[in-house]
Amino acid sequence: MRVRFAPSPTGYLHVGGARTALFNYLLARRFNGVYVLRIEDTDVARSDKTFEMNLMETLKWLGLHWDEGPDKGGSYGPYRQSERLRIYREYAETLIKEGKAYRVYAYPKEIEALREKMINNGVAPHYNREMLEAFSTEKRRAEYKEKGLQPAVYFSMPRKQFFLKDMVKGEIVFSEGSVGDFVLLRSSGIPTYNFACVVDDTLMKITHVIRGDDHLSNTVKQLAIYEALGANPPQFGHVSTILGPDGKKLSKRHGSTSVEEYRSRGYLSEAVVNYLALLGWSSPDAKEIMSIDEMISKFSLDRFSKNPAIFDPKKLKWMNSHYIRAMKPGELLLRLKPYIEQCDYEVKHENLEGIIEVVKERIHVLTDFCEAAEIFFKKPSQLPDINSELISVFLNCADRLQKLQNWEKMNIIKVFKEVLKHHKVKRKEFYSTLRVLLTGKNEGPELADVVCLLGRDEVVSRVRAIGRGEQCSE
Ligand code: GLU
Repeated sequence: MRVRFAPSPTGYLHVGGARTALFNYLLARRFNGVYVLRIEDTDVARSDKTFEMNLMETLKWLGLHWDEGPDKGGSYGPYRQSERLRIYREYAETLIKEGKAYRVYAYPKEIEALREKMINNGVAPHYNREMLEAFSTEKRRAEYKEKGLQPAVYFSMPRKQFFLKDMVKGEIVFSEGSVGDFVLLRSSGIPTYNFACVVDDTLMKITHVIRGDDHLSNTVKQLAIYEALGANPPQFGHVSTILGPDGKKLSKRHGSTSVEEYRSRGYLSEAVVNYLALLGWSSPDAKEIMSIDEMISKFSLDRFSKNPAIFDPKKLKWMNSHYIRAMKPGELLLRLKPYIEQCDYEVKHENLEGIIEVVKERIHVLTDFCEAAEIFFKKPSQLPDINSELISVFLNCADRLQKLQNWEKMNIIKVFKEVLKHHKVKRKEFYSTLRVLLTGKNEGPELADVVCLLGRDEVVSRVRAIGRGEQCSE
């Protein structure tokens, strides 16, 4: 088995592309196949090296490592289409010689006018050899030669039905005449996607292709090219398009759609990969939380859904918080590093793993960390408004904490209980006021944890602030 992911470097990797990359990866790994990365950069105007680098970086971040590709090489390279132009030209020549393709000496505006004419006459704008070759007069050929122009090469689409046994959708029939003749090689010498894709999938010995069903209209053209080349097409699986929560095709309107955005917003790659796998595929045991290795072991082609997949950002966020909670503090610290650097306060590393352990229950994305951990690094900006009786209770509490032998959670709780026993103060009032006193907030992690992690000096100093506050105002 040889599979590939073949992105066009015209933008950041979006969730649909990442899902395609993932399904092909799972297929390759499940059946001990080879996973190829091919860069389809034939759209010269829109392709960009920065996007290519970013695509590769994002795939690596997701953990979808390829076996052959532009950076790694392999037996069927080069793996960047812009470096394979000579190959496409040779194949186009062969098809011309065999009468399956032909040169067209027409200017773009003439082709456009022809198309408009067909539309105005109420017929489908399908080109055929006769109408296109009418441009290729002796005079026109001479003109091209004189101007140093190259003709485009068109494929002569056989007028017949095409069949596809799709791994996901089942039998598909493409009716005769659904597609007209189309360009294989542009006059610039650059191939079209459909041509380059077929030549490469053939030469790279690709056996299985999973891709979005928005490619079905291309598939009929590709089947015809395979036939013309006398090559066997790979097995295709067209997975349903990803829709937004409103049932419309997922787009920018729905919010973030690039993997990069999720990454920078503090999503874990494990959560993104897990969530993407469930967009159109399901495990036989209906399990939802799965590591990539577990997905590999359970992956099969008969578990794809024919219904459109709905991208639900809320579920992705829920899944992310699940992965954050399940992660060991040391590992989470490594993932949090770049986000910690963005906090608008200084994060001391003493007790940091303990702090992470406590706040991880309360964060959904890594970018939530700074706000959730702020109480440990910033003194509260305001003191609670309490009477002098309560102030003395807290000052006494601070004295007891100051003297505490072992600074441990259990001992701290004991001190709280002693204070409550010796003073006439309501339990709830004591704890909620102490929380505000220490953190400036009405809610947060378990108070004994907060106290323990803040450390003796900091706790005592924050509690005693209320005494100082009272003296000032008197
Ligand atoms: N370059 C194409 C795309 O990004 C690849 C489609 C395919 O998998 O054949 O959509």
